[in-house]
Amino acid sequence: MLNPLFGKILFLIGTVVSIGIRVPHDKISKETKNIYSGKDVLEKVLLLLMLLGGFLLPALFIFTSVLSFADYPLSPLAFTGGVISMMMYLWLFYRSHADLGRNWSVSLELRENHELVISGVYKAIRHPMYTAIFLGMASQAFLLANWIAGPSGFFVFTIMFAARLRREERMMAKQFGESYEEYRARTKRLIPGVW
Ligand code: SAH
Repeated sequence: MLNPLFGKILFLIGTVVSIGIRVPHDKISKETKNIYSGKDVLEKVLLLLMLLGGFLLPALFIFTSVLSFADYPLSPLAFTGGVISMMMYLWLFYRSHADLGRNWSVSLELRENHELVISGVYKAIRHPMYTAIFLGMASQAFLLANWIAGPSGFFVFTIMFAARLRREERMMAKQFGESYEEYRARTKRLIPGVW
């Protein structure tokens, strides 16, 4: 078995890198005008849940011992799974931000002069950033050897994704009409060629 510290350190590195990827986009996002915002109470609750499952519970596990009752040993296999899913996560998280550019937002929003992106990592799937986040949450589950702080991110993102998917696609279809319907017809949601 491995020292659980290895998993914790790698998780922290991944978190820092992903914040580094997001921060410049957050800045652009704040400077870009919206023509529509669907950031309602449900969206705000979901974003808070993400904070809880993806940051607060991991931080409690890493920096305190309050969750130690749910610890388990870190296996080399789980650690390897964590490394692989994290690399895939960071690459796809980076690419999807780069491809969306100024059209990105943390919630359901449409920008002034919003463009429908259908190329790059958006060519085969409609939600590559959500695929990336699922991979990131999987790496959290692999790397944090704790039954609460490990799976918490995956759990909350599954709820967020389920609540958002239809609303986001409805918003996009309303805005882009026929072009979005065509795009939807020839792409999958999360996994190229599968779903
Ligand atoms: N669901 C996408 C984007 C996540 S960011 C993904 O997983 O990659 C959420 C915002 O991106 C939405 O509010 C919407 O405004 C915007 N968006 C989603 N798909 C888009 C697309 N194909 N082109 C342009 N903007 C898009």
